[in-house]
Amino acid sequence: MRIRILGAHAIEANSARAAAILVDEVLALDAGSLCASLSLADQQKLKAILLTHHHYDHVRDIPFIGMNLAHMGSVSIYSTAATLDTLCSHLLDDEMYPDFRRWPEGQPAIRLVTIEANKPFHIAGYGILAVPVRHSVPSVGFQITSSQGKSLFYTSDTGAGLSECWGQVSPDLLITELTLPQKMEEWARRTGHLTPQLLKAELLEFRRLKGYLPPTVLIHLNPLLENDIAAEVAEVSRDLGASITLGREGAEVLL
Ligand SMILES: [Zn+2]
Ligand SMILES: [Zn+2]
Repeated sequence: MRIRILGAHAIEANSARAAAILVDEVLALDAGSLCASLSLADQQKLKAILLTHHHYDHVRDIPFIGMNLAHMGSVSIYSTAATLDTLCSHLLDDEMYPDFRRWPEGQPAIRLVTIEANKPFHIAGYGILAVPVRHSVPSVGFQITSSQGKSLFYTSDTGAGLSECWGQVSPDLLITELTLPQKMEEWARRTGHLTPQLLKAELLEFRRLKGYLPPTVLIHLNPLLENDIAAEVAEVSRDLGASITLGREGAEVLL
């Protein structure tokens, strides 16, 4: 699998894009920065977009993907009922922009597919498993397994308490979030995000349960706080003897 980080940040600026990950040009995980990161030709190659939760920084490109694909093709969007309900009532409400589930007429650009957590399914030969994570709104992480048996687990936005989640996945690569530096742990706990020390506790629990630690890439960074985060993550990485790196727009991992 060729995994490309399209957006590695929680906010947007000319140097930072919102969360999105591309797998082998056909699957997208979250839609924070698909349009600015992919050519129109590459957007047309997408077979599915998997949404972890409804927060704007993860779904914002869905209307534009609909417009970009109109009359050119279509894409399927997979998520839980809770996420799709909010997406439909706010971003596909036919007021600010067309409802791409029905538009263009006879050849709609978007097809929604409701999935259930903890029930494996397949898209284009990939095994997919949605696993609930602890965030401020209903949210799932996705494990993607290739036909060669390699797997990636993307938690998306999550707070502490992933023990149950770790029991269900065995990834070769973990992509998770690191939104705030240590000094903001209280705010991280209130909003369902991770700091370096909260991440460390989750990774220790992963290793206790699974007996290994996969290489870990962190996204959903705040560029204004990134220097503090980088130094604190380097310390955690040293303490655990693990590969933990900050994600970058355009970075690729081959599995
Ligand atoms: Zn969120
Ligand atoms: Zn977010």
